[in-house]
Amino acid sequence: QKTDIGIIGLAVMGRSLALNMADHGFKVGGYNRSKEVTDTVMREHPHKNLIPFYTLEELVESQEHPRKFMMMVKAGNPVDAVIAQLEPLLDEGDILIDGGNSFFEDTRRRTEALAQKGIHYFGVGVSGGEKGARFGPSIMPGGNEQAYKTVAPILEAIAAKAQGEPCCAYMGPDGAGHYVKMVHNGIEYADMQLIAESYLLLKYAGGFTNEELADEFSKWNQGELKSFLIGITAGIFSEADDFEEGRLVDHIVDSAGQKGTGRWTSLESLKQGVNVSMITAACNARIMSNRLEERTAAKKVIKGPKTMEGTRKTPVQKETFADLVREGLYAAKIVAYAQGFDLLSHASTEYGWDLDFGRIAAIFRAGCIIQAEFLNDITRAFEKNTKLTNLILDGFFLDKINKNQESLRSILSCGILSGIPMPAMSQAAAYLDAFRGMPVGANLIQAQRDCFGAHTYERVDRQGTFHHEWGQGYE
Ligand code: NDP
Repeated sequence: QKTDIGIIGLAVMGRSLALNMADHGFKVGGYNRSKEVTDTVMREHPHKNLIPFYTLEELVESQEHPRKFMMMVKAGNPVDAVIAQLEPLLDEGDILIDGGNSFFEDTRRRTEALAQKGIHYFGVGVSGGEKGARFGPSIMPGGNEQAYKTVAPILEAIAAKAQGEPCCAYMGPDGAGHYVKMVHNGIEYADMQLIAESYLLLKYAGGFTNEELADEFSKWNQGELKSFLIGITAGIFSEADDFEEGRLVDHIVDSAGQKGTGRWTSLESLKQGVNVSMITAACNARIMSNRLEERTAAKKVIKGPKTMEGTRKTPVQKETFADLVREGLYAAKIVAYAQGFDLLSHASTEYGWDLDFGRIAAIFRAGCIIQAEFLNDITRAFEKNTKLTNLILDGFFLDKINKNQESLRSILSCGILSGIPMPAMSQAAAYLDAFRGMPVGANLIQAQRDCFGAHTYERVDRQGTFHHEWGQGYE
């Protein structure tokens, strides 16, 4: 049978994307290294447009030129292994898409290698997990712009739709799509961490019960914080436990996993010299959360604040406190997105991608984990000013930051006095204060550098580079 596209790798994501494409009328060839997986998919999800193949040769032969394949296999070596098997079967002009969470440098390398043979390689970020893949993900394609036109009808058909527009748009050449996906995930880490810190504040400093938390987050989900993550958080607080009395959330170990895209974002930011401190803080928070034994032991010996056993009831009314947390969270969220988009901006210059930030925010509006109302405002900001250097400086966001920064400071002090760790919100405030030109102490650091290493210094009152013969007592 003839097919329109071949999906290689039929685990959760590949299977869901294949069925999504099949639903949209495309004839999809499905192939998986282990035959049993293909059989299970065909048995459990039979679809007239999904055709199983048991060899790559047959899968390749089922298509007319230019042929199109999408790999949905484990990131890393498996991608290279599939490419090695597939490459001899492909011809010039064929298109090979990697839809997994590959590292963008790998995508750049693979793109270059396959281009030698005239094969168009695409690194495509797919966000939204299993449900997104099945019913409409946010899709970030990177690769050859001309070749994109060949696969666009399929990718745009299966993508989520926001206000009728597909959440899929050409990002740029080679690694651009995977880069945008990586930063998306980094922002997702920061966003989740901010929500977790808001929860801790409301629960431990505000004395909110799970029921009240569910109500509060539901309320937030009707305003400017409206988003997928706030919505599922509201639902989580109402979820009954499967084994015991009470809510499931209280029975889950205080330790969170990570697969590495947040870490990639953080490492990449250091390489680019861009401050994404909130994403890094969110990665560190997960690392700390994993030190369960050490944390349990240290709890017995390290003192907390005097006020209460690690917590302090807020002196204000619950509703007033919740408003402060909501406003502080909103201010911090703006900073997190500003940092993420700043990284994208630097990468765009560094790698020559010419990323369109408004379009990126627009494709995040549906299908992906960070989908939110707020992204419309980001799109508007970049459309209004394509040269915007930092999201915080857009009039709309500047106004929000200026209005809400006091609330951020007030909940931060409350959290710190209560012994509640707030790494991401603290970074938001520190970033804001440094960015708005408050002294950051670098004059002293430069003096130290000149003192111990003759690294020289510049002056505020005259041009040039100076070195000072520092006085006594420095040996
Ligand atoms: P997995 O990442 O668990 O990968 C399993 C698939 O990879 C199977 O089809 C497996 O085949 C195949 N595979 C592994 N090693 C090889 C190899 N050496 N040669 C050929 N095939 C191999 O599957 P997921 O569906 O979870 O994810 C697919 C990709 O999508 C990953 O890159 C993931 O990071 C990304 N992703 C996942 C999301 C999710 O929510 N799960 C969300 C967004 C992206 P076999 O059955 O033979 O072992």
